[in-house]
Amino acid sequence: MKVNFFGAAGTVTGSMHLVEAAGKRILLDCGMIQGGAMEEARNVDPFPFDVSSIDAVVVSHAHIDHTGRLPLLSARGYRGPIYAQQATVELLPVMLFDSASLQESDAERSNRRRARGEDAVAPLYTREDVQKMLQQTRPLPYHQRTSLFPGIEVNLRDAGHILGSAIVELFADGRTLVFSGDLGPKGTPILNDPETPPVADLVLMESTYGNRNHKDRADTVRELGGILDTAWRDGGNVLIPAFAVGRTQEILYWFARYWNEWNLSRWRIFIDSPMAAKVVQIYDRHHELFDEDARKVWKGTPNPFRLPNLHATESLQESMAINQIRNGAIIIAGSGMANGGRIVHHLRHNIGRREAHVVFVGYQAEGTLGRRLVNGAQWVRMYGEDYRVNAQCHTVGGLSAHTDQNGLLDWYGGIPQHPPVVLVHGEDIAREALAGEIRERFGMSAELARPGAVREM
Ligand SMILES: [Zn+2]
Ligand SMILES: [Zn+2]
Repeated sequence: MKVNFFGAAGTVTGSMHLVEAAGKRILLDCGMIQGGAMEEARNVDPFPFDVSSIDAVVVSHAHIDHTGRLPLLSARGYRGPIYAQQATVELLPVMLFDSASLQESDAERSNRRRARGEDAVAPLYTREDVQKMLQQTRPLPYHQRTSLFPGIEVNLRDAGHILGSAIVELFADGRTLVFSGDLGPKGTPILNDPETPPVADLVLMESTYGNRNHKDRADTVRELGGILDTAWRDGGNVLIPAFAVGRTQEILYWFARYWNEWNLSRWRIFIDSPMAAKVVQIYDRHHELFDEDARKVWKGTPNPFRLPNLHATESLQESMAINQIRNGAIIIAGSGMANGGRIVHHLRHNIGRREAHVVFVGYQAEGTLGRRLVNGAQWVRMYGEDYRVNAQCHTVGGLSAHTDQNGLLDWYGGIPQHPPVVLVHGEDIAREALAGEIRERFGMSAELARPGAVREM
């Protein structure tokens, strides 16, 4: 078996690895590169392999940084199967139609700005491309070892990161490759803890938070409650940039759980994301993937997805109408890194207000507006204008969908015999720290994947 590293090798986004085994070529993930405009421009580049040579694709989970280039792969000639966990297959249309709409409107906008005579730019892909690609998806349950081709089998285990997220095990040539996908923290609400693979000859492990440990969850939750209290006293709004998948559902879970303690009935809570609202429905269809605690919470009152003061806004007009509200609103909107989406217009209206609070609950990649705010920027640029940052920005790290350094070490340490490990899906600073800890604790020298590098096993 041989692994070629192409994406999320030195960065967090654009996850994509190519496995060669038993005479076949299997792509693991086909993610979108996200971050600054320069970075994102690379999505349109030719794939670093012959598309027609790919025999199968296996996707770890539905997040765009793992799936965002699937429609492009298909449009450029990939006709084979795309395997993913059942819930991931249901999430894919929601994620990718949204992504296609963004691509289409981005292209439209830049064409309007283009001078006469210049070539028009085409969207990276269209909704039609997505429609075609979706025909290629093949749902797999967890724990069902499935033959992809003679001599190659795949098995998915729960990664506890978002609904349907999987650790991918590939068996071929008498070897076992384990791809962690993105790993959730232990004790994360709603979902089960990430499983430990019983055997591996090589592990590709994510390392998003390889250099950091999250705050204790109980502290985090108390902190969130405290921020809401302060914001109420300050008389401002609370903005929560959140991925439509995962964070949004988790926040609703905490709101239901602390409904009385946080006095949440006094707020107006908005999910300003048609996408997040659709994802909520998919979560609601898959209580069998919830952990025990979540099943209990969903049987109690209030139901996290049916809070009495919860408004799911569909149209852009409804979204704009929220701008009239100066206080008492909790606005959950995408994108999670504030590099686009409805959260940006809410930020524009609130960022200059001292009484407003912005709460970051997920990872903020380099080059994004979220990262600049988290880093304490005094001024930020939105829609081509500079805005003074007066609002209070908070990072609530303990709500991350990614496990932290200790969690990664525990997960790796649980795999028998501490197999060789290649670190992917992390910035170098995180990967180097994690590699150091792995050496220290297990005496293994972890490799850092580089784009274009090949690892034989
Ligand atoms: Zn993810
Ligand atoms: Zn990811």
